[in-house]
Amino acid sequence: MISERLVLYDCSGLSASSTREQRQIAVIGATGSIGTSALDVIAESRGKLRASVLAVKSSIAKAVELSRRFRPDVLVVVDSDVDRSPLRDVPCGTEVLFGEDALNEVVSRPGIDVVLNAVVGVAGLPTTLRALECGKRVALANKEALVAGGSLVMRALDEYGGALYPVDSEHSAIYQCLLSRRCSTKSTRISSGDVERIILTASGGPFREWSLDRIKSATVEDALRHPTWNMGAKITIDSASMMNKALEIIEARWLFDMSPEKIQVVIHPESLVHSMVEFIDGAVIAQLSPPDMRLPIQFALYGAEREICPTRKFNWRRAMTMNFAPPDFERFPALTLGFEVAKNGGTTGAVLNAANESAVDAFMCGKINFDQIFTLCRRILDLHDYEPNPTLERVYEVDAWARKEIEKWIAR
Ligand code: NDP
Ligand code: MG
Repeated sequence: MISERLVLYDCSGLSASSTREQRQIAVIGATGSIGTSALDVIAESRGKLRASVLAVKSSIAKAVELSRRFRPDVLVVVDSDVDRSPLRDVPCGTEVLFGEDALNEVVSRPGIDVVLNAVVGVAGLPTTLRALECGKRVALANKEALVAGGSLVMRALDEYGGALYPVDSEHSAIYQCLLSRRCSTKSTRISSGDVERIILTASGGPFREWSLDRIKSATVEDALRHPTWNMGAKITIDSASMMNKALEIIEARWLFDMSPEKIQVVIHPESLVHSMVEFIDGAVIAQLSPPDMRLPIQFALYGAEREICPTRKFNWRRAMTMNFAPPDFERFPALTLGFEVAKNGGTTGAVLNAANESAVDAFMCGKINFDQIFTLCRRILDLHDYEPNPTLERVYEVDAWARKEIEKWIAR
């Protein structure tokens, strides 16, 4: 029996029918692929949304350009060592702050309604926790926070009365499917008691039809050529290895409190069905839309309310074909790691995530072959000292340990 525990709920004081005219959004990771799409949604919101905080790691020139366009109250640059000279062009109403502490202070400010976490990697975990601990509504794109620290994130959500809205298209789709049977109480509380399984769709990435041998020798350029989505480099490599789907299995396990036996992956090359929920009576509810991240981003920013969205729409006058097939675990063994980690929990998520982040970096720098991303993750998971209920400190320790092990292995 699936737990009746609240999965996604909003106690943040900003109800869907909030009387506030304009929602103040902190866009963390503003220069990235998700950040850029989010700013597009904000620009098209007819004043309903405002980017009051922009945060980047080190892309100063782009951050200055965005500040001039969006006039935020605060611009945070996390990397304090950057060349600061371009910042003289930041508009005078924008406060500029540096460092991770500043970021964590800014997301806790009372004027912020929604924190969009679009940072790549486990670097996004502290911001997610901080925002939830302040009872904020968090629109979460940063799946690595849930993979590495899922139990901590969900505990912060339970304890401090904030809200968590998925941005990842598959998880937004599942959330939308679950909401389709929301009762009339206007509550955003949803339970998963009548869910038979959730079905995560996957495009299959650029190597969907490649042989195992050919995948082994794939180049960085090959792996960056995604057939249906235009995304940041790390997630694009993850999609090629299907590690992205492995991370999404773990993400779904935490977000929807779903046991891994109830999670299934289906290859759907057209990326039109973003995921599905099968209920105990056999009904399957799916969410469809052309592949464009602006829709799930907007749905999260508005707290699951429908608004006009600047996305492409289906042309129902044209013929369309949709294909579905089971995944090939032999050619894409990363998928097995996703199910394994979703089942074992504890420190395994932090270890897998860190190993994968390091291995992807090493692949992009030409230090390892494509298939070694999986081999290294497998090896590090097997080596690690499992702990069932890690603290945040322990998560960081195993993260650092896994990265060091990968470095040692590559140096050898
Ligand atoms: P990108 O690499 O395109 O962008 C990452 C952003 O995060 C940049 O703005 C970068 O700033 C910023 N950043 C990196 N490190 C830090 C840090 N330590 N502190 C603050 N900001 C930081 O990534 P994506 O937009 O592709 O992905 C972001 C997240 O969303 C990932 O977790 C990904 O898995 C998830 N996601 C992405 C999808 C997509 O379509 N792209 C779809 C679903 C999920 P700077 O430019 O200065 O380096
Ligand atoms: Mg996804």
